[in-house]
Amino acid sequence: MSGRPRILVVEDEVAIQELLRYSLEQAAFEVLVVDTAEAALNEIRNQLPSMVLLDLMLPGMSGVALAKRLRGEARTRELPIIMVTARADEADRVQGLDLGADDYVSKPFSPKELIARIRAVLRRRAPHLAGDPVEIGPVRLDPASRSVSCDGQAVTLGPTEFELLQYLMTHPNRALTRDQLLNALRGDHRFLEDRTIDVYIRRLRAGLGPAGDAMIETVRGIGYKLTSPLE
Ligand code: CA
Repeated sequence: MSGRPRILVVEDEVAIQELLRYSLEQAAFEVLVVDTAEAALNEIRNQLPSMVLLDLMLPGMSGVALAKRLRGEARTRELPIIMVTARADEADRVQGLDLGADDYVSKPFSPKELIARIRAVLRRRAPHLAGDPVEIGPVRLDPASRSVSCDGQAVTLGPTEFELLQYLMTHPNRALTRDQLLNALRGDHRFLEDRTIDVYIRRLRAGLGPAGDAMIETVRGIGYKLTSPLE
C-alpha cells in the first residue's frame, strides 16, 4: 500500500500527459493517466483516487460532464477536482467551477504552480492526504515517517489503522460515518462491509491504549468521532 496521494490525470494530449506525469512523479505523487472521461469513470469505479486532474476538452464525454457526474454520486461527491482548461475556454471554466471543481489551471501552465495548487486543494479538501504531521492531545502522527506516538511513546499500528487514525485526526470533532471512513482508506475497500470499520477501530483503540478509548468515541447510529481528551 502506497502512502502517496494518487492523482488521476484525464487528458487526451500526449505532450501534456507526459508533462503532467513527469511533474507529478517528481513531486512524489502517484500518477495514473487516462485519455477519456469514460476511461476515468472505469478507473474511479475500481479505485478512488486522491484527486482528479481534469482536462475540459476531451473526445467523447466532456470534462464538464464528467465533473457533473462525479459530483452527482455519493461515492465521488467529495473527490477533489482540478480543471485544466485551454486559455480561451472561459465559459467552460466558469461552468466547471459552478459544478464544484476545486480549482482550475489554464494551459500553458507552470508545473510548479500546478503542484502548489494540487497541494493547496488536498490540504483543504483532503487534509489526510496532504502529508502534514498532526497532533491532538497526547497523540502525534507523522505521515512522512509513518510514525505515531502517544505521550511521547512510539505506538505501533497496522497500515489500515494508521490511515484510519490519520483521517480521524485530520477531521476531528466530527461524527464520521462508517462509509466515510471506509472511503477514506486507500486501496480498494469498497467491497468491504461497513462493520469492518469496527474491527479496525477496535485495533486502533487498543494500539493507543487509554488515550484511544478516551479520544475515539462511538457515535450511535452513525460511526465514530475523534476528540481531544482535554476538551
Ligand atoms: Ca484536450
